[in-house]
Amino acid sequence: MPSTTLQPVNVKRNERNNGVCSASARVESKPPHETLPTGHHPNFNRITDEQFNKAAEHMKLESEIQMLLRTPYREMVVQIPVRMDDGHLELFHGYRVQHNAVRGPYKGGLRFHPEVDLNEVRSLAALMTWKTAIVDVPFGGAKGGITCDPTKMSRRELQTLTRGFTQKIDLALGVYRDIPAPDVNTNAQVMAWIMDEYGKKHGYTPAIVTGKPVNLGGSLGREEATGRGTMIITREVCKSMKRDIRKSAFAIQGFGNVGSWAARLLAEQGAKIVAVSDVKGGIFKEGGLDIPAVVEHFKQTGSVVGFKGAKDITNDELLVLDVDILVPAALGGSIDHHNAEAVQAEIIIEAANSPVTPRADEILERRGVTVVPDILTNAGGVTVSYFEWVQNLQQVQWELEHVNTQLEKKMVAAWNAVGGVHRDQKIPLRMAAYVVALQRVAEATRQRC
Ligand code: NAD
Repeated sequence: MPSTTLQPVNVKRNERNNGVCSASARVESKPPHETLPTGHHPNFNRITDEQFNKAAEHMKLESEIQMLLRTPYREMVVQIPVRMDDGHLELFHGYRVQHNAVRGPYKGGLRFHPEVDLNEVRSLAALMTWKTAIVDVPFGGAKGGITCDPTKMSRRELQTLTRGFTQKIDLALGVYRDIPAPDVNTNAQVMAWIMDEYGKKHGYTPAIVTGKPVNLGGSLGREEATGRGTMIITREVCKSMKRDIRKSAFAIQGFGNVGSWAARLLAEQGAKIVAVSDVKGGIFKEGGLDIPAVVEHFKQTGSVVGFKGAKDITNDELLVLDVDILVPAALGGSIDHHNAEAVQAEIIIEAANSPVTPRADEILERRGVTVVPDILTNAGGVTVSYFEWVQNLQQVQWELEHVNTQLEKKMVAAWNAVGGVHRDQKIPLRMAAYVVALQRVAEATRQRC
């Protein structure tokens, strides 16, 4: 992850109290407060349920297996009180949902966001089960989240929050039980805090998290893995559609870990990236953006907005630009029934989780737009997380070239499996991806029963 995407833990804070007030003085300075999700975002659990149901029905999956796979194995909701820098006590809520572990330990990221709630985490946990099955790594699916706004928290507050969350879910974690990783607004630093907190009780355990700093046992190539996987899938999709990537115009929404790395690696393949964006807005240049220069501008300013020689645009405008390929790499639900008719791209590569809603999916299918699903596209991250876990368990470090070669093999194999079902059964790519995943998870379930 570029250092600029580490923003949440590096945010400059107001230092009103310099951390030296007495606890009682702090309590008086502001009343206690509870941070709850605002809850105005799409119902992601309904979205993933609908996708599951469609695929299960198509493949005539037996009802007992459906019943077992539809709901999570275990859900945890914990409260995490944090004494904030200004002295008041804030109560945060954290979640860990373990969806399924028939193919291996629970595996999934941890998200810090004001909109995170149990429903969203539940949905993302199920997506992880399907994702790990598609790339055929021996993991199940889980997800975690804390309802908080990391952009308004100091490094100390975030560290206290992360350590508090780790203590609360400690019993459910384990190198062969559940292994967290970074997701939106969490990064290698957050993983280092989790590993350190877990280690206080259990001793040195690097395999307890992936996406750690390389210095602490992280894998080379993990930071860019999701973007690299996105590039590999995009390249394979273009090949199969006989589209020249070098003659294709791209728009990428989101310039965090996934979006910025996908932009860099696609640009290296010769793709013309005409637009990129972040939460503050987007930029457009018809002739193509100089992506390394945009990365530099982002590092300097904290946003892509204001990049010299490009026109500032909104995120809404980016999604409906006249481009060949659209890559949503920010948050879920960005393409819905309100804007799906206006999308001009021929291909949508879902680098984010659940960026296209089921109603939008139907509209796009009718309009002949190819949607490459999240559970295939962004599985590069968990694939290299698996490599990191293997390295930690064996106490070795792979060379970057080896990581990238193994990732390439896994992603191409996943594409061949999904693309094969798509062609043979004449079903959309999303349903084909679910069929591949459900077949593998269902088979493991039957074998264990
Ligand atoms: P990140 O926090 O590094 O970046 C998120 C980006 O989205 C930032 O550029 C942010 O400014 C932008 N953004 C946030 N809200 C936005 C909005 N309303 N409009 C436009 N842009 C907005 O997160 P990430 O790790 O890059 O994750 C992005 C997506 O990819 C998420 O859906 C995540 O679940 C998924 N994903 C990430 C990984 C991984 O390895 N990091 C793996 C698989 C899937």
